[in-house]
Amino acid sequence: MIYYKTDEEISLIRESCLLVSKTLAEVATYIQPGISTQRLDEIAETFIRDHNATPAFKGYRGFPATLCVSVNEEVVHGIPSVKKILKEGDVVSVDCGTVLNGFVGDSAYTFAVGEISIEVKKLLKVTQECLALGVEKAIYGNRIGDISFAVQDHAEKNGYGVVRELVGHGVGKKLHEDPEVPNFGKRGSGPKLLPGLVIAIEPMINMGKKNVMEASDGWTIFAQDNKPSAHFEHTVAVLKDRTERLTSFQFIEEKLKAQSVY
Ligand code: MG
Ligand code: MG
Repeated sequence: MIYYKTDEEISLIRESCLLVSKTLAEVATYIQPGISTQRLDEIAETFIRDHNATPAFKGYRGFPATLCVSVNEEVVHGIPSVKKILKEGDVVSVDCGTVLNGFVGDSAYTFAVGEISIEVKKLLKVTQECLALGVEKAIYGNRIGDISFAVQDHAEKNGYGVVRELVGHGVGKKLHEDPEVPNFGKRGSGPKLLPGLVIAIEPMINMGKKNVMEASDGWTIFAQDNKPSAHFEHTVAVLKDRTERLTSFQFIEEKLKAQSVY
């Protein structure tokens, strides 16, 4: 069942989304060759708890960490580890969820570690464009399939694989609510978007084929052909007269710009 939010509930989700956006920006400042994915997780958890919130993922269906940190061919749900050290040329997808005032904020960003290849840069750019195109379609009166189609069409036009097994979702008191928001589908299909709908749109795009597998840790999803994968996610609210992107990459981009000056 889809649970439509009141304006008051949306303002609480907005606060949680602001925190998750700032948490990803905090993590961004530490992403460099030599850091472990476990360290990134500690930084995120401390930041979230310092802001009187709790990590949404920790303990969710037994997931052990604050962040999902997925490197290169890993698509999503990577478990942070002291043994996993980032190196120059990697791409790292960081997915984070917060619970503040009882409401979830959910966002993800894929970072370059140092210099990455032109091909992988393009994958990140196109995946971010897929997200933007999906968000553009998330308006009152459209259907979920309009979002799905926009994401899939742009990814496939660029020769990329669209992951089928994992999808976006409603966001509210729970991390995963109805409806599902697939990154593939037909225009005009699926549930209608009505005011008060809050959803996470999250393209997971593979440089190679769409097929994925689950690692032996029972969590990590990786591209079967071992080619890099990217993941960007926003939580958005559909309102009567507009759509509001509740999460933002602005804080991340400011930090990355500040770093690149040196
Ligand atoms: Mg997420
Ligand atoms: Mg999500």
